[in-house]
Amino acid sequence: MTEKQALLRGLPSVDRLMQLAEVEGMMAGYGRSLTLEALRFALDDTRQAILAGNGRLPTEQEIAQTAQEWLANLLAPTLQPVINATGVIVHTNLGRAPLSQAALKAVQETASSYSTLEFDLDSGKRGSRSVHAEHLLARLTGTEAATAVNNNASAVLLMLMALCQGREVIISRGQLVEIGGGFRVPDVMEQSGAHLVEVGTTNRTHLRDYENAITENTAAILVAHHSNYKIIGFTTEPSLAELAALAHKHNILLLYDQGSGALLDTAPYGIEPEPTVLDGLEAGCDVVCFSGDKLLGGPQAGMLCGRADLIGAIKRHPLARAVRADKMALAALSATLELYLTDKALTEIPVWRMIARPLAEIEADAERWAAHLQKEGIAARVVDGRSTVGGGSLPGTSIPTKLVAIEQANAEKLAANLRETAVPVIGRIQDNLLLIDPRTVLAEQETLLLAALEKLLRET
Ligand SMILES: *Cc1c(COP(=O)(O)O)cnc(C)c1O
Repeated sequence: MTEKQALLRGLPSVDRLMQLAEVEGMMAGYGRSLTLEALRFALDDTRQAILAGNGRLPTEQEIAQTAQEWLANLLAPTLQPVINATGVIVHTNLGRAPLSQAALKAVQETASSYSTLEFDLDSGKRGSRSVHAEHLLARLTGTEAATAVNNNASAVLLMLMALCQGREVIISRGQLVEIGGGFRVPDVMEQSGAHLVEVGTTNRTHLRDYENAITENTAAILVAHHSNYKIIGFTTEPSLAELAALAHKHNILLLYDQGSGALLDTAPYGIEPEPTVLDGLEAGCDVVCFSGDKLLGGPQAGMLCGRADLIGAIKRHPLARAVRADKMALAALSATLELYLTDKALTEIPVWRMIARPLAEIEADAERWAAHLQKEGIAARVVDGRSTVGGGSLPGTSIPTKLVAIEQANAEKLAANLRETAVPVIGRIQDNLLLIDPRTVLAEQETLLLAALEKLLRET
């Protein structure tokens, strides 16, 4: 018998491994079938190592440890909390808007129990899910009617399907945008069955361009907000009010994809004004749609507000069912809208709290964090910087902020290591400095953030 064969014979059986106390614990935690699979993997792994010439027989505990690691790795969450230290408030890749406490509570209460999702307590009969956020949304926007769907991409699609299918929709070439994730306005319009009529040029579209394109078969003019880019220089676009007047003179609709869902004015916070949902409605748009999880600061959802007959047609469209909002989104949305109605948005909705946060407060955080790190012998200082709103809103605009700058020979490496801590920290790198923006770090994450920084920097 060769030495390898002798080692292979010495391997324990699965049954024997199952007698181990630690494997019993694994079965309680991971269940029997996954644990068995893990043990077989660990044994196989050990067998391969022996055949490859690793001349040692591991202990049973070591084999169980390999199985344990396999299980932990298999079930490691792919969707996990992170600390957003980038200063990008609505960070599309980091989950957009964090929910308010009120929204969170509403989700928890509604989702962990039965609810009146489609039940009318007065009559004891079937009710409509559409009552939940809609009256709040209509009141908040001062519109006749409103509805909420799965997200804004589906809101745009549904709006065009319900109101423009088989007919022409006029849009400026300056607004044929790709929003990210391959979502291109012209592609969505095509899927809706509406015929896209492009007018004007990338930088200039005049009212007469729209007017010249109106035919008997025109259903609407669509305005899509420049959500993630800016055309500067020699540019012109007619105002929403001018377009509304033109559309209504010709008996067609003006539809507005506002995008960000800004209900409050951003101007007081040193950011360029963004056309709000209300601006669109006041200008005379017939339907305005927008996202729930950008500047509205709520859950993923798409909102449609406007004329009652049009919203009615949208809600009755057969595909409305396919893109409806779920109960958790409706619960979170209602709670979020209530914060606006009761004047608590600026203090309770995280994205607005971050936008409105006084610079002095951010500076105080930055100073405290830098001092804390300096005490640990880490080269940290406070520097001026800019936070951005992000999320496909307010392109090119930023808010002054204070950053903690950490000097490291290899800042990229440090940033990579920070992404691997228990709660990963996502920062920014510039000129070999790791930059941490307190604006987007949630108050309850401060301790975790400092602990992660300290640990890594002490090790390097
Ligand atoms: C973000 C955005 C969308 C897509 O909204 P989702 O809620 O992500 O589906 C559509 N149009 C505009 C103008 C946007 O800014």
